[in-house]
Order: sequence, then C-alpha cells, then structure tokens
Amino acid sequence: MTLIDNLLTLYKVDRQVRSLRSRVESAQIYLKVQNREMDSITLERTENEVQTKQRKANIANIETEMGSVDTRIDYLREELKKAVNDKQYSALLAEVNTIKELRKSFEEEILIEMTSVEELELAAADISQRADEREKVEQVAENELKVRKSEIAEQLAELETERSTAAAVIPEEALNEFDSLADDYDGEAMAAIEIIDLKRKEYSCTACSLRLPLESVTSMFGIKDNFVSCVSCDRILYLEAESREAIAPTEK
Ligand SMILES: [Zn+2]
Repeated sequence: MTLIDNLLTLYKVDRQVRSLRSRVESAQIYLKVQNREMDSITLERTENEVQTKQRKANIANIETEMGSVDTRIDYLREELKKAVNDKQYSALLAEVNTIKELRKSFEEEILIEMTSVEELELAAADISQRADEREKVEQVAENELKVRKSEIAEQLAELETERSTAAAVIPEEALNEFDSLADDYDGEAMAAIEIIDLKRKEYSCTACSLRLPLESVTSMFGIKDNFVSCVSCDRILYLEAESREAIAPTEK
C-alpha cells in the first residue's frame, strides 16, 4: 500500500464520520435556534407584563385622584347651597368648574391607559400562542436530537475506530496535512485528477477545476511515500484506477 492508498482509505472513512456527525450537528443547530427563539419570546412576555403592571398602577392612581376630586365636588356643591352672597357663590362655582375640567382630564388619561392595557393584553395573548407553538417545536427538536444521537452512536463508534486504524498507518506530517485540509474543506481533503485531453496531456483538479501542470500528474507515478497537492486548492491529489490505467502507458 502506498501513502496515497492509505490516505484514500482514511479519506473515505473520515468523510463517513463527518457526515454522521453533521447529522447530529444540524439537529443541534436547529435546537439552538428554537431555544433562542423561545428566549426572545420569554423576554417579550416579561416586557409585556412589566408594561401591563405599570399601566394598571397608573389607572389605580388616577382612580384614587378622581375619588378625591369627587369628594371635593360634593363638598363644594353643599357649600354652594349655603352661599350667603354672590361673590362667595361665584368663587365656589368657579372652583367647581375648574375641578370638573380636572376630572375630565383624568377621565381622558384613564381612557388612554385602558386602551393601552387592552392592546397589551392582546399582545400577551399573541405571545402566549407563539410560546405554545415554539414549545412544541422545541420539544420536537429535542427529541430529534436524541434520536439522531442514539441512531448514530453505534455506527459512529465503529467508524471512529476504523478511522483511527486508517490514521495509524499514516506518517504524522502527512496526517496533519490531511486533517487540516479536511477541516478546511469540510472533509474534502482529497481530489481526483480529471483527464481533460489525454493526447494533449491536459489534466485538472476535480475539486477546484484548475488545470494541473503536467508535472503534478507525472509525479503521481512512482511515488510511494509522498503525495502531490493541487497547486491551486492544496487538496491531496489522487488518480482513479481508470485514469491511472489510461495515463500510465504514456507516462511509463
Ligand atoms: Zn484543486
């Protein structure tokens, strides 16, 4: 087995490990999104509750003040009956009118506060509905994650052992290069060489499509303990058996 053969074995199992893990990762990401949505709904609910409480407290305050106003009006009306002269009567009447205006402004304020409370209560109902819906989605996402984790657990353990075995026969330097490429390219650490035109000796990298210098291809033959990288994307190059056979007669 050449280094390239060993790398290809690792490449295949590494991709399987990554694809299995990504099935769990996507479920984890989905659950996180749901959790964040739920957090924002909870925040909305807290703000709504604070505002509703504030508005209701405002209403209670205004009602207390209106109570005092009414008591004062009743008192003034009694005083009006007892008025002994025009001047006194006019003064009392003027105060009654002023205080009535004040009462009116309180009524208007209460109306505004009550409208706000109604709006806040409507919003609260909407928040509750969204929270219920989101909770269901969250539950589904949690279950999905559990299922996926258990589904892959056994297979992943097997593949990880297989991956370790495949990695064990590869020299450290080559392995580091492979791992770093695999991380950068989401598992696509290697790329096959494509024959564009055999006669004209034109070849390209299947991953990045770049035309490869002839030297990259010819040096693929006869090497055992080394590998060739794509000059553009750096991926480790390999030849499919068919391509190898097709190219070999011209390169021998
Ligand atoms: Zn490339």
